[in-house]
Amino acid sequence: MKIFVGLDIGGTKLLVCAANEKGEVLRRTSRGTPLPLQEGLDALYEMVAEVAAGDEILAFGAAAGGPLDWKNGIVSPLHQPEWQDVPLGRLFKERYDCPLAVEVDTDAAVLAEYQFGGARVSRLLYITMSTGVGGGLLLDGELYRGQGGSHPEVGHLGIAYRCAHAERIECECGAGDCVEAIISGNGIRRIYGKPAQNLDEAEWSEVSYNLGQALRSYSALYAPDLIVLGGGVAVGGGQRLLEPAIRLMQEHCKLVPAPEVRLSDLGYETALYGSVALAMRAKAE
Ligand SMILES: [Zn+2]
Repeated sequence: MKIFVGLDIGGTKLLVCAANEKGEVLRRTSRGTPLPLQEGLDALYEMVAEVAAGDEILAFGAAAGGPLDWKNGIVSPLHQPEWQDVPLGRLFKERYDCPLAVEVDTDAAVLAEYQFGGARVSRLLYITMSTGVGGGLLLDGELYRGQGGSHPEVGHLGIAYRCAHAERIECECGAGDCVEAIISGNGIRRIYGKPAQNLDEAEWSEVSYNLGQALRSYSALYAPDLIVLGGGVAVGGGQRLLEPAIRLMQEHCKLVPAPEVRLSDLGYETALYGSVALAMRAKAE
């Protein structure tokens, strides 16, 4: 049997899966991410052997934290300090003699929503609200890239926020009051002193307002058909987070059509499904 192999290389967890030629996941495995680089690579090789189970691998797709060089398959994920300029594409090509395509995890996620998540629209924006906030934009199924092939960081947009503890807002990027600093899991913890699931009604209402301001700005800028929200904070917040945010966005979309906004149906493995989509694309190229 011929298979695609997807890798989700996260700062805390490695996920690897094998999928058939239609992209249906057949086998998967996961492990904690080892700190040393070589141990991490060896873990990936072992996991590949486990899910491949002797089948013929057509191509690999990998989702990793940024920054990375997708053209040359080189990754330097910010949350894996020992992974600096790792030539993942070349290492896998040499070892398995087949192509590997790599993208930032949120770009992989938007591909997954398009290909497997029922989000087949012309202009699709995916936003994750988890420990951080990030996203990916697809135009007619192709990733939108920034200057020099860079990955736009939608989590670091500035917005007109409301916050009872504004003095606690601090973005890890150093820029100050970014969306990520205000509505991500880490940001919420810093501002409210507790994880998102323990927020009271007034606190949720602030987070929801601030998400609404972000959605409104994304809509004004991109005028997308659909915005899909994923990540633990968004999925955990559910409708009490989403409904007021969507209402605020709709009220402020005066000149652009308000997009549909919904939660992801792909659960917490969006980036892994995205890595399968990437592998399928790598084979086709
Ligand atoms: Zn920032």
